[in-house]
Amino acid sequence: MTFRRSGNSGALLPAISLGLWHNFGFVDNIQNGREILRTAFDLGITHFDLANNYGPPYGSAEENFGTIFKNDFKSYRDELFIASKAGFDMWPGPYGNWGSRKYLIASLDQSLKRMGLDYVDIFYHHRPDPHTPLEETMGALADIVRQGKALYVGISNYAPKETQEAAVILKRLNVPFILHQARYSMFDRWIEDGLLDTLEQIGVGCIAFSPLAQGMLTDKYISGIPENSRAAKTLTYLDTDTVKSNLVKIQKLNEIAKARGQKLQQMAIAWILRQKQVASVLVGASSANQLKDNVEALNNLSFSKEELTEIEKIIA
Ligand code: NDP
Repeated sequence: MTFRRSGNSGALLPAISLGLWHNFGFVDNIQNGREILRTAFDLGITHFDLANNYGPPYGSAEENFGTIFKNDFKSYRDELFIASKAGFDMWPGPYGNWGSRKYLIASLDQSLKRMGLDYVDIFYHHRPDPHTPLEETMGALADIVRQGKALYVGISNYAPKETQEAAVILKRLNVPFILHQARYSMFDRWIEDGLLDTLEQIGVGCIAFSPLAQGMLTDKYISGIPENSRAAKTLTYLDTDTVKSNLVKIQKLNEIAKARGQKLQQMAIAWILRQKQVASVLVGASSANQLKDNVEALNNLSFSKEELTEIEKIIA
């Protein structure tokens, strides 16, 4: 594994991190989840990303993680960098969603209980809340750090201007704001339009989620939709029509990857790591083998000008 600095902070993250959005809920096989987590750690993936509502059902990924942590990882706590978040819907009523102080502080307390942790390494506000003053949301993050329940804070899905505003408040409050978690892949490049520059200016790192576009940027859909894939499952955010509409691009990108001696999933990860602001690429995996495959991306991170131009022609 290689480690990259998150912005101007002292926090080093593995170039590839593991997210528990899918494959770790009560609907999934916990033994498989355990194998994925153990493989991750053995590969040097020290950063695990969770959120209050990962599952399904909500909370179950944190609960399963807590069980596995207790059995397998407790003695390695200081070698791990664990994240949770709140900001999307979690429980009914007015206090289980968005960005109020009431929600964030209660939610982190629940997350810590589910995971059996005293603190998380980073706690994020998961999405901007247009109806709560940013001062209140950032103030809650600051108090969470002061209470010792998180070491660092981050935000996710914030636009460049909101990110800048959050940075000003957190700096005034003397809170270590080190990461912005944003969707970024060859199929979704919104962060290139201002966010990466903003992060560079404020000295905050980016952690890129859904780097494989939920599995589309791999070789798995090239000859059809496999049973058990995310696109074939219900209760996911990837559907077969989206896969089919991107198939020509996927096939062309796959040819470029092959010519580089890489799989498409490895090229897709390498392509993200070419951005210096990206501290880590946050992948998901439904098997330990997928994770091993993905980490091999690190064997070839450089791109020729010609390769980048060819890729650009396909994805532009
Ligand atoms: P990816 O784009 O990496 O998609 C992961 C999926 O791709 C896997 O479940 C698997 O799908 C497939 N895959 C991965 N590796 C391989 C491989 N080597 N070969 C074939 N298929 C492969 O990321 P996710 O969309 O899962 O997001 C990653 C993490 O980012 C989440 O777990 C979460 O922590 C975070 N996230 C944060 C969000 C936010 O708002 N802050 C929103 C979404 C995600 P299959 O199941 O079909 O095998």
